[in-house]
Amino acid sequence: MIEKIAESFYMITLPMPFRLKHVHVFALVHDGSVSLFDTGMNTPETFSTLDESLKSIGKTIRDIDRIFITHFHTDHCGIAGRIQEISGAKVAMSEMDARRIYNDQKKGLDFDQVKIFYREQGLREKIMDDLLELLSSFRKATIPFKVDTSLEDHGSQKVGDREFEVIPVPGHTSGQVCFFFRGEGILLSGDHILPEITPNLSPDPYNPGFRPLKSFLDSLGQVEDLPVIKVYPAHGDPFSNLKARVEEIREHHRERKSLVFESVKGGPKTTFQVSLDIFGQDLPEFDQFLAVNETYAHLIELEEEGLIKQKKIEDLVIHSVV
Ligand SMILES: [Zn+2]
Repeated sequence: MIEKIAESFYMITLPMPFRLKHVHVFALVHDGSVSLFDTGMNTPETFSTLDESLKSIGKTIRDIDRIFITHFHTDHCGIAGRIQEISGAKVAMSEMDARRIYNDQKKGLDFDQVKIFYREQGLREKIMDDLLELLSSFRKATIPFKVDTSLEDHGSQKVGDREFEVIPVPGHTSGQVCFFFRGEGILLSGDHILPEITPNLSPDPYNPGFRPLKSFLDSLGQVEDLPVIKVYPAHGDPFSNLKARVEEIREHHRERKSLVFESVKGGPKTTFQVSLDIFGQDLPEFDQFLAVNETYAHLIELEEEGLIKQKKIEDLVIHSVV
């Protein structure tokens, strides 16, 4: 599905076999070429939908000469390598996230390290095995590609006669960026700001000092005052009330943090046990993993505030009030 959002600027909706079922990518046509913002997953359906969508505007995958990526998750750049192979497109993404892909692909996620971390948080062994399998399948789902430009600087990029700003918004991943077209008030928000849900916050196994919740909340401040007319998220419908949405998201995390604090006040617990208080007992396995990540992100902020502390007891990390 393809929809025009501005002159020579299109939103293409690509299928996804799980969860949110779709991801939006954006195509900017200039001087006969196409710049693509995010790519979708590496599946035959993504390829054919992208191809058909571009053909409907008189372009093909071969015309893609640049790819700009918001973050390293497979639904955002999984098929970039295949496009690059076909068209020779140059790829730009943040160095932080490029390194994440490189580390994952070269060494393979350091499963022992990941396992130790989640075991300490109290995640059940069975969930962990399924989880590692899933993470490894995600890794395989991204075709390796070469990154030509790093997007670390808060710089401007030029595509045809359009200019856009790259805005680093660490949180959902440590290298996530948004793209802002000031002239038209268009914000491509990636997964940073979504209309219905908040992006999952999880620790970065290669960057232990990373505080996902604090970074994410700081990054909301990076975009809320921009003169945005319309936000185009990677998932869900475009929307215009950015400031109101930012406030809602802040409120959501304030509430969640106080629930996490209440849970720990009820007695010492592992991260997993706290997550059961917050998210309930009946989550599917992968969601239990996401719930532990999200809970962990809040626990470490409560700890920073001096309200709770953690202690290792045998092989488990236990949180309790100070
Ligand atoms: Zn994502």
